[in-house]
Parts: sequence; C-alpha cells; structure tokens
Amino acid sequence: MSLLEIENVSVFYEDFQALYDLNIKIEEGEIFACIGANGAGKSTMLRTVAGVLFPRQGHILFDGTPIDNMPPHKRVELGISSVPEGRRVFPSLSVHENLLIGGYRNRKGPWTTDAVYELFPLLQPLKKRQASGLSGGEQQALAIGRALMANPRLILMDEVSLGLAPVVIKRIYEAFPILLQNGCTILVVEQDVQHVLTVATHVACFLEGRIALQGVPSDLTTEQITAAYFGV
Ligand code: ATP
Repeated sequence: MSLLEIENVSVFYEDFQALYDLNIKIEEGEIFACIGANGAGKSTMLRTVAGVLFPRQGHILFDGTPIDNMPPHKRVELGISSVPEGRRVFPSLSVHENLLIGGYRNRKGPWTTDAVYELFPLLQPLKKRQASGLSGGEQQALAIGRALMANPRLILMDEVSLGLAPVVIKRIYEAFPILLQNGCTILVVEQDVQHVLTVATHVACFLEGRIALQGVPSDLTTEQITAAYFGV
C-alpha cells in the first residue's frame, strides 16, 4: 500500500477546473517532487492533500484511509503536515513559540524543539526573536521546523526555495535526508527544477492541471523534462 494515493482527482475553483483526473502514488521514504510552470496546478494539488480544498471527483487515501472529506486538522493528526507557500509563520510570536504551536497536536515521534534546533542550528540563537524579524531563509527553516513538530509521516512543502539565497537553499535541501531518516516522506513543489532533481526520488511534471511526465529523475532526459514543462 502506498503512503498517499491520489486517484482520479478533479479539483475546481468554482467553475474553473484546476486539476483533471489526477493520479499520484507516493511511497513511504520518497522525496516526490512536483515541477511545472506557473498555474499548472501544483499548489492546488498540495492544498487538496492538506484539506484546504476538496476534490469534486476522485479520492485521496492516506495509508489506505480515505481522507477526501477530512478537515485539515484531522489530517495533521493522521500525520500530514504542511509548510505553506510563502513560508507563513506567526509573525508576532517568537521562534520558540512558533515551534511549540507546531507540536500542539502532540503526535509521538522524533521531532522536538531541540531536534529542530539541531537540524537548523541557525534558529538556535534566534529562539526568543519575534518571527516577523527573521530573514526569508530563517523563516523558511522555521516553517519547516514548525511542520516537523507535528511529527508528520508526510510533509508537504510548497515553493520551498522561492526567493531564497543559494546558500540557504542548499541548507534546506541538506535537511531532506535527515527528514527521511526520521520517518518523514516528502512531497515538494519546486520552481528550482535543477536543484530538486538532485534529491528527488520521483518527479512529476504538471502541465495545465495534468501530469505531463513522471518517473525516476535518472530515467528522464533533460529534453523530456523540458518538453513536459513547456508543453511542446
Ligand atoms: P504557481 O507556481 O503559480 O503557484 P501552480 O502550479 O501551483 O502555480 P496553482 O496555484 O495550483 O498552480 O493554480 C492552478 C490554476 O488554478 C491556475 O490557473 C490558477 O490561476 C488557478 N487558481 C489558483 N488559485 C485560485 C483561486 N483561489 N481561485 C481561482 N483560481 C485559482
């Protein structure tokens, strides 16, 4: 059984159809990367897995349990945690308080505030700092740390490197194997195709609400990926 199965899912924003009959299977221990041009439907897919949007057709199964009609907080309890687009953190709370809030569901697992500070040592000296004053990279590390505090089995990451300095992007990608070692499967949406392909175990290229190409990155040529990305 796959950890996440998206079966024939169609999603609409009122009359506008954003996803068409989508099928995705994510196995435990994978880094599943979704790439594609702006508006291709990647964020819509993540929002549907998180429970912010609901499919009009099709089903989503998490470890065999149907979750299509489940509200977001129930999905967090099951082990699906999100790092939202734009690395939204609670601006008026401190770094430490943001992490504690991420853990309020108290799922059992390896992630504690200490484990997050070990993963991202840059956060350690900022513990008491208000989150609004952090740099983009620090906020992204905090947003990932907060999501980990829920001890997820599946972490959803939207636009993980958007607007960040290369050194920060590198640090964030270096954290991925540590997440896997701690039992967390990763579903990541990424604009930076080259970077994500170096770590992904599976890639799906979205085009106009459908998957135009998917597979193991090493099995795909740059030409195939470019063609799927641009729809040529
Ligand atoms: P991006 O990188 O720009 O976020 P994406 O691949 O994540 O691209 P989505 O954000 O999922 O794409 O958007 C898919 C389609 O749905 C686009 O045509 C977009 O205009 C539309 N869309 C997204 N959010 C809404 C919304 N709240 N209301 C109406 N249409 C929306």
